[in-house]
Amino acid sequence: MFQKPLNLLFLSTSVGPLGSGLGGGVELTLRNMAQMMQQRGHEVTVVAPAGSVLPDSSLVEVFGDLHPTAQNEGRDAWIAMPPNSVLAGMWNYASQVQDNYDLILNFAYDWLPFYLTPTLATPVAHLVSMGSLTHAMDRIITQVAEQFPHAIAVHSRAQAETFPDSDRFWVVSNGFDLQQYNFCAEPENTLGWVGRLAPEKGLEDAVVAAQVTNIPLKIWGVLQDVAYWHDICDQYPDAPVSYEGFLPTAELQQALGQCRALLMTPKWVEAFGNVAIEALACGVPVIAYQRGGPAEIVQHGKTGWLVEPDSIQGLVDAIAQLDQIDRLTCRRYAEAEYSLQAMSDRVERWFAAILNQRMMG
Ligand code: UDP
Repeated sequence: MFQKPLNLLFLSTSVGPLGSGLGGGVELTLRNMAQMMQQRGHEVTVVAPAGSVLPDSSLVEVFGDLHPTAQNEGRDAWIAMPPNSVLAGMWNYASQVQDNYDLILNFAYDWLPFYLTPTLATPVAHLVSMGSLTHAMDRIITQVAEQFPHAIAVHSRAQAETFPDSDRFWVVSNGFDLQQYNFCAEPENTLGWVGRLAPEKGLEDAVVAAQVTNIPLKIWGVLQDVAYWHDICDQYPDAPVSYEGFLPTAELQQALGQCRALLMTPKWVEAFGNVAIEALACGVPVIAYQRGGPAEIVQHGKTGWLVEPDSIQGLVDAIAQLDQIDRLTCRRYAEAEYSLQAMSDRVERWFAAILNQRMMG
């Protein structure tokens, strides 16, 4: 597809160092993308906030203030930058070294990288990790998509549709190193919930479902909003739930594999939902609200159940039907659709479109 292997520069999210969990699914997505591109013979250098941990890739750490997360700012929020923005530092570095690279890939859901895209000589690709959140971001993303028709990719159709004029977006789904996930045939009688503990993730609904069914719920993820978590504990003091902390992938998959199902109860349009694939890879069926990325991942009645959004009764009914789901089918489905191989093919086609367009333009 390419005349020679590509030299790729990845720019990480500005909300936290890689490995901290603050970046949510982006952290694992970036790690997987670096791995898969390297396996295909390309060179990858990653630029990320200082303190990042990324085995097996060349990493450039940049000091500076982290950015706040964008999820709960409101649609009319202005663009805000901390005084010594780590993002500005990262992109300053990128502009200095850009001549050494064939393509720059942005993972940050921030205005600045989009704004800078036309000013850089090296093509910039953007892997957008969330749905539409603010008018300011919609506007700059649309402008970039108009000027550079292949520059934007998202993870799911549902995510693309939250943006105006998303016809030009590439939908690349996601891919995982499935060797890192062990199939577990015999689960314990527990349910799992994995994600940042933050309001848009809707943990409270899973807690209520655990209380109603009286099946213990284990929770893994970064405690991003402590007050939100305390509220849930106060409201449902008797629910059989336990917070198990934020685990590295190897330990997370081990523990998650023991669950009878993963509950996904987001209140927003989840762009993709990495944790759905991680669960399926362990043989764990997914019970998810029928909206956003998870609705494109879960095959109703085959690899889990899709439930009317915000319906606790729907969750409870789905839990009662878990025996109908074959755990090996879940694993096989992850292997077929969400391997690094499958994702590499999609991403290489995307990169080729960007580079061909540049050559012709
Ligand atoms: N995660 C993890 N350890 C944990 C809990 C979660 O590494 O204990 C990771 C998980 O692997 C996933 C990410 O956190 O990649 C959550 O991503 P997701 O796409 O589900 O949601 P986001 O946080 O991006 O909204």
